[in-house]
Amino acid sequence: MRRFLIAGNWKMNKTVPETRSFFEQLKPLLEPKLTSELLVCPPFTALTEAFHSNNGQIALGAQNVYPKASGAYTGEIAPSMLAEWVSYVIVGHSERRTLLNESDAFINEKIHALLQAEMKPILCVGESLEERKQDRAFEVIANELKAGLKDVSANSMLNVTIAYEPIWAIGTGETATPEIAQAVHAFIRNWLQENFDATTAAQVRILYGGSLKSSNAKDLLSQPDIDGGLIGGASLKPEDFIAIARIADTISK
Ligand code: PEP
Repeated sequence: MRRFLIAGNWKMNKTVPETRSFFEQLKPLLEPKLTSELLVCPPFTALTEAFHSNNGQIALGAQNVYPKASGAYTGEIAPSMLAEWVSYVIVGHSERRTLLNESDAFINEKIHALLQAEMKPILCVGESLEERKQDRAFEVIANELKAGLKDVSANSMLNVTIAYEPIWAIGTGETATPEIAQAVHAFIRNWLQENFDATTAAQVRILYGGSLKSSNAKDLLSQPDIDGGLIGGASLKPEDFIAIARIADTISK
């Protein structure tokens, strides 16, 4: 049985006061208690505020990490610096792959650094519109999984979450249909079974990300292989974010 994970990726949004206000507004919305796991990933500058304002109510994550323990890496943040505040870290988001040219090999280094620090990577994979039109979505995703998860053991995979984020659906208002999303999620689960084992495939959570909001959450989250969402825009307002988690709570699989 996989518990839903409803994760918010704030991207480059929210100052410290805005973060404080988010958690103040969130608090009453968490009653009655949710059964889905909730996660918010603020920018680095808001992490300590999120940690103190959140006061252990929900899980926290970071949006990036540098795969070295310490040293001359100006502007970068090590896993041990994050481990004080967060348990999850988003890795391989398409915005970083595209805007910052992050390679699969670099993403794989980050995954290993996080697992070594006993943190939980969320590995993002997904095809561009052009790749989908060329019927190459599965090939692209398989390559990202293969390279991103290189030399990760089946045991460590239990700390890894995969997020399928079709690039054409991120921040565009365009959502993958439940059928398209389910087909990719089933493909990813099958890939995990072939490359690890059946137990790993059954336990790893696969999130959908790409314009997920309360109006489409029920149809997407009802799909058998969709175990939650990685949510950008709709995670910025506590009521929108919790509305999605409440929908997840009504779905039994
Ligand atoms: C994301 O940033 O991971 C994302 C899915 O964004 P949005 O929900 O805004 O499309």
